[in-house]
Amino acid sequence: MKKVTQMTKAFETEVVVIGGGIAGVCSAYYLARRGARVVLFERGAVGAQASGVNFGGLRTNGRAEPELPLSLRARAQWQKIETLVGDNCETEITGHVEICDRPEHMAAVEQWAGMAETHGVGAQLLSAADVARRFPWIGTKVLGGCFVAGDGAANPRLVTPVFAIAACKLGVDIREHDAVRTIRHDGGCFQIESESGTGVRAPILVNAAGAWGARLAAQFSEVFPLDVMAPQMVVSEPFARVVTSTVDYPVNGRFFYARQIGRGNLLFGRGPGRADLDLGRARYVPQNLFDASRIAVDVLPFLRGRNFIRTWAGVEGKSPDSLPFLGKSRAIDGLIHAFGFSGHGFQLGPGIGEVVAELALNGRTSTQIEGFDPYRFAKHSGAMGNAPLIQTG
Ligand SMILES: Cc1cc2nc3c(=O)[nH]c(=O)nc-3n(C[C@H](O)[C@H](O)[C@H](O)COP(=O)(O)OP(=O)(O)OC[C@H]3O[C@@H](n4cnc5c(N)ncnc54)[C@H](O)[C@@H]3O)c2cc1C
Repeated sequence: MKKVTQMTKAFETEVVVIGGGIAGVCSAYYLARRGARVVLFERGAVGAQASGVNFGGLRTNGRAEPELPLSLRARAQWQKIETLVGDNCETEITGHVEICDRPEHMAAVEQWAGMAETHGVGAQLLSAADVARRFPWIGTKVLGGCFVAGDGAANPRLVTPVFAIAACKLGVDIREHDAVRTIRHDGGCFQIESESGTGVRAPILVNAAGAWGARLAAQFSEVFPLDVMAPQMVVSEPFARVVTSTVDYPVNGRFFYARQIGRGNLLFGRGPGRADLDLGRARYVPQNLFDASRIAVDVLPFLRGRNFIRTWAGVEGKSPDSLPFLGKSRAIDGLIHAFGFSGHGFQLGPGIGEVVAELALNGRTSTQIEGFDPYRFAKHSGAMGNAPLIQTG
């Protein structure tokens, strides 16, 4: 029998954020920094989905050109994270190297580095000898690579909760374990009701529901083509530090990526797991783990004989072009979409927060986000940009 909850409390605020991943929490944080009153609803705990289980990579290296302005904006925030939130969240700016063993990949990387320089990324092309000298722990034979010194990594277990604590200190009302159940729009305001029966009215609503973002948008008859993916990770036992920068390496069309954390464990990822949106869970696929482990030992031969102690996967939303849906709704005034980060939204988090705050409070953003237009697939997907709002539940 469906649980019936009485609506017990109803109050007004300026912005409601749905989703307590890095996109939603950073949005709430930057909105509150600018003085907005914000309520955030999270179905589970903040940062418990993709934002808390990811690889932790803070990479501009290799990003598609439309993402670079947002990624660079985020990079400037990561560089001062301790000042922002009072904790450095184990952030290390130790660089990121993408290595190449095929001429066509090397050519693509050279082209990317040229483009990236027009954005000021600071990409350095490396020869095979440069890679051998700078990263002697890489065992595989390479033609060269591309290094970005300003990239790094942070601990995803810490980042979103720490931003959430900082947001609370700025007055954000964070409601965990309380999923949004119904949303109505009366022409001026959203009326949001949660599973606990809490009712909130606000003129601005941020859809930061991650892999569930398209489901939420469908409540407004907006159709966005969002698939679900499940990146999977492996962690080794700890050992003395060898790996000085994050390494990325494409094998058979899929990237293998690895980094070693301060406590000595090596993390690596490759190969999809399986995700279930209804359960909100992802599982690793054993065969893909074995493949990833074989590549790990080829690329990083010092791993031979080490134990891999844990594996996991996370639920992530993926768009057809792997770019997010980030921008204002064309259907409803005051609705902002920020979801579908397609496997690389952790690094973007603080940039997303700043951009959402600008969209919400100024109506536009100073960052180029045209490539993330939520309606770019409309003619293919039948998305409706001006449909009437309907009640859901
Ligand atoms: C294993 C793995 C490795 C990755 N590695 C990297 C990496 O190295 N670098 C990088 O940049 N990115 C990486 N990513 C991608 C990155 O983690 C995601 O792009 C990012 O975390 C997405 O953040 P989000 O806030 O949009 O989504 P989420 O973290 O999924 O947050 C969305 C939240 O919305 C909540 N929600 C949904 N519906 C409702 C509702 N109705 N009411 C209330 N709450 C709701 C969910 O419970 C969830 O907590 C990786 C992802 C995975 C899974």
